[in-house]
Amino acid sequence: MTLDLDTLVLDLHVTSRRDRIKVADCHVYPDTRLNGTIYAGVGRDDECSVGNGRNLGWRERVAAADHDGCSGLRVWHGALDRRSSKGIPWGARATVWFMLRRTIYNDEHEMFRDSVRTFMQKEVVPNADEWEAAGKVDLSMFKAAGTAGFLGMEVSEALGGGGVDDFRFNCIINEEVQAAGVMASGMCITLHNDICLPYFTEVANPEQQERWLPGICSGDSMAAIAMTEPGTGSDLAGVRTTAIKDGDTYILNGTKTFITNGINSRLVIVAAKTDPSQAHRGMSLLVVEEGMEGFSRGRNLEKIGLHAQDTAELIFEDVRVPAENLLGEEGQGFFNLVRNLPRERLSLSLSAVGHAQIAFDWTVEYAKDRTAFGQPIGAFQNSKFWLAEMKTELDIAWVFIDRQIEAYLAGELTAEDAAAAKWWTTDLENRIADRCLQLHGGYGYMEEYPIARAWRDARVQKIYGGTNEIMKEIVGRSLGF
Ligand SMILES: Cc1cc2nc3c(=O)[nH]c(=O)nc-3n(C[C@H](O)[C@H](O)[C@H](O)COP(=O)(O)OP(=O)(O)OC[C@H]3O[C@@H](n4cnc5c(N)ncnc54)[C@H](O)[C@@H]3O)c2cc1C
Repeated sequence: MTLDLDTLVLDLHVTSRRDRIKVADCHVYPDTRLNGTIYAGVGRDDECSVGNGRNLGWRERVAAADHDGCSGLRVWHGALDRRSSKGIPWGARATVWFMLRRTIYNDEHEMFRDSVRTFMQKEVVPNADEWEAAGKVDLSMFKAAGTAGFLGMEVSEALGGGGVDDFRFNCIINEEVQAAGVMASGMCITLHNDICLPYFTEVANPEQQERWLPGICSGDSMAAIAMTEPGTGSDLAGVRTTAIKDGDTYILNGTKTFITNGINSRLVIVAAKTDPSQAHRGMSLLVVEEGMEGFSRGRNLEKIGLHAQDTAELIFEDVRVPAENLLGEEGQGFFNLVRNLPRERLSLSLSAVGHAQIAFDWTVEYAKDRTAFGQPIGAFQNSKFWLAEMKTELDIAWVFIDRQIEAYLAGELTAEDAAAAKWWTTDLENRIADRCLQLHGGYGYMEEYPIARAWRDARVQKIYGGTNEIMKEIVGRSLGF
């Protein structure tokens, strides 16, 4: 059967992810042939994501024949009413809703996003369950990320990087890790890029950069940062690990715990006291490399969540670390750590918002499909109000985080602002994960539903990167208390 566009009936079911309109489960009736050219778009310069997996740019022409029998297509001309199916011609039925449009990314970023999304679907998602069971990801995935150009984007091309100093590319990877629902499996990449890399690009000297950055960009050298010890976490100046100078080496002794990438890393930035008689001013940073004598890994720790993320103890027994592996100046370690914390916390905040968003997206779908007392559970006033509140809070959170990203790009993100974002977004993430799980009822507690994992994984975000209490300390102190 051949249908002219003006008689085409589409049964559309539309969901949204932030700046994109996501069209799911839409249906072109079988045996139909579309006659004519279709325009896909949303009445503004957004992208329209179609249910058959293709992303259509604004006003991209789609030859009708391409969609012969396809099971997903969103088509209309003209402006779209933001809240109704008005503007969708040809008798299409749809629920259309939008998140506030984000404005920080351009076309180049969105093209990069597409390739990251493909990578996540191909290299990470199919293996995520296996890695959850194994307690760590396979290093081949990390190397594949390097080959794809997703590691060290801001490093110069001469040293193997992407040569683009734009943190938004890091942000896109982070967002796509969360959107794919693989927070634990993707964290090795975000920690490496967002948290560890600046020590190598900003604190390391040129000789060290030549030595380490190529491996960091290729994926041969996953990085980790080791501050926390069994006896001290929040009180960073209280570290007991020592690095005592002896000729042209430092003799490193101590134990670190809870170290992300603790098993898989090849380069570990270690915070140690080069002058144990001092607090902050006695601390230095040393890079310990895989294979150094006296360096061993302890247990891969068993955690409540983030099972695919290796979190481990690291043990240093009389490790002779060459003086060339000192990062920055002796005694400046604490200050170099503090300088990098806003970027670390920004990364965690973004992951929190992205993670909360995907939990919400899943839940909207679930609340439509699941019925009780003869109606979708989303239609009960309590559910509807919860969903409305969460949608609003997510809108607020994206605006807040985008402003923080802009501030970081402009070199203006303060420690207080980053701390404020870290506590607020991770609290929000946990609140949303909990409500979303509740809306799933008993199924929310079952491993086969992704919301169960999201709920478990969210919890630690209020703890690492500085606990949320410490974040409020920082904000409170800035107010003069
Ligand atoms: C999964 C995971 C991954 C991690 N990854 C890393 C990593 O890669 N590298 C790394 O170095 N560390 C890492 N950590 C450690 C993490 O940063 C610390 O656990 C965190 O900073 C808290 O330190 P702590 O556990 O010693 O708690 P404590 O400092 O003992 O705090 C215990 C409680 O006391 C509260 N508290 C402490 N001081 C104050 C205060 N001044 N005012 C108010 N309340 C206070 C805390 O908020 C908390 O509620 C990780 C932890 C986990 C769980």
